[in-house]
Amino acid sequence: MIPIEEATKIVLNHTRSYGEEAVPLTEAIGRILRQDILADRDFPPFTRVTMDGIAIRYNSYANGQRKFPIEGMQAAGSPQRALLNLDGCLEVMTGAILPENADTVIRYEDIKVENGVARLQVNGIQKGQNAHLRAFDRKQGERIVKGGAILSPAEIGVAATVGLSSLKVAKLPSVAIISTGDELVEVEETPELHQIRTSNVYTIASTLTHWGIHPDKLHIADDMDATKAKLSACLEQYDVLILSGGVSKGKFDYIPGALNALGMKKLLHKVKQRPGKPFWFGESPNGKVIFALPGNPVSAFMCAMRYIRPWLRKSLELEPMDYSYAVLAEDFKFKPDLTYFLQVRTSFDAETGRLMALPVEGHGSGDLANLVDADAFLELPREKDKFKKGKVFPLIPYR
Ligand code: AMP
Ligand code: MG
Repeated sequence: MIPIEEATKIVLNHTRSYGEEAVPLTEAIGRILRQDILADRDFPPFTRVTMDGIAIRYNSYANGQRKFPIEGMQAAGSPQRALLNLDGCLEVMTGAILPENADTVIRYEDIKVENGVARLQVNGIQKGQNAHLRAFDRKQGERIVKGGAILSPAEIGVAATVGLSSLKVAKLPSVAIISTGDELVEVEETPELHQIRTSNVYTIASTLTHWGIHPDKLHIADDMDATKAKLSACLEQYDVLILSGGVSKGKFDYIPGALNALGMKKLLHKVKQRPGKPFWFGESPNGKVIFALPGNPVSAFMCAMRYIRPWLRKSLELEPMDYSYAVLAEDFKFKPDLTYFLQVRTSFDAETGRLMALPVEGHGSGDLANLVDADAFLELPREKDKFKKGKVFPLIPYR
């Protein structure tokens, strides 16, 4: 049995790179960008009117002009017009190009129009007001998004505006999530008294869809031959296998034995942690990666958050740990010589602005309903057994 620090190191030393691919913008959310996004034009590309109203030449206002004969209309989407009478004005709409010879826009709210003349109702007009100057935000050719960014709606909007309908992103591994156990039935089925529905595959899959991974969901019965046959087929087909259950000491826990028989290299088995002690991790001779998680729902979920996500982040060349930290809100005791992943509910303290973590312990690693009341795991180190209120610990949030 090894401490979590060593387990983490082993897992993170076995990351993989899966190359690159192009995806349409509509599917790019959450993916990792593998190209720079440059401004194909200035931002904005022309001096843009930002209010509906009239455009004037500021000098005429500065010279005392307060009535501006209206020469016409500059709508959004129309080619640029020019102000012919330098003491006149053009009506302009938000999004329109600012007419030539005009430099300042006055809102409709601040004028009165009578007989084709706009009369100013306010003072204090500023030169250049309500005009968003060409190239004010970014210059043509400037890099706006750097490769390596996680694509959010912000980057996707920028890609669209520079005319990229698809983006080069990091390719994702193909993943199978495989449940094991004869007690399990499908979600749609009605279980007998001694059966339960499989929930882990859905929980674990949901920790991956965030990244754009849509794993296949499979099942293996508690039978050595069936286990070997199915695992062998999956190892052909997928880059990553995530197994749930069957890694402990039970008479039907065939996973470590089957993986061993198939020639898989065990990199770790059993970690000094609760939940998730029986966690197994290994690889195939041709580089496939296998996470075999304990079947208890809280254990499986915790291991997915604490090991698989950092592994995936590092494989995608991101910082592996996306930890935050929180303040323990109550004294807490935990005796065993294990790192304890305490379920907590977090909230901000109004006075200090600090993130507080209130223990919501639940009834052990089978209590998946308690995960609904919590929103994070607080990582309490192994060396201690008393944890004082007010101390700060790493937090793994899952909402
Ligand atoms: P195991 O690790 O196979 O000994 O399973 C430990 C516990 O987790 C047992 O109570 C199993 O019924 C439960 N379990 C195993 N797999 C799943 C799953 N896919 N969904 C929900 N519970 C599971
Ligand atoms: Mg089992």
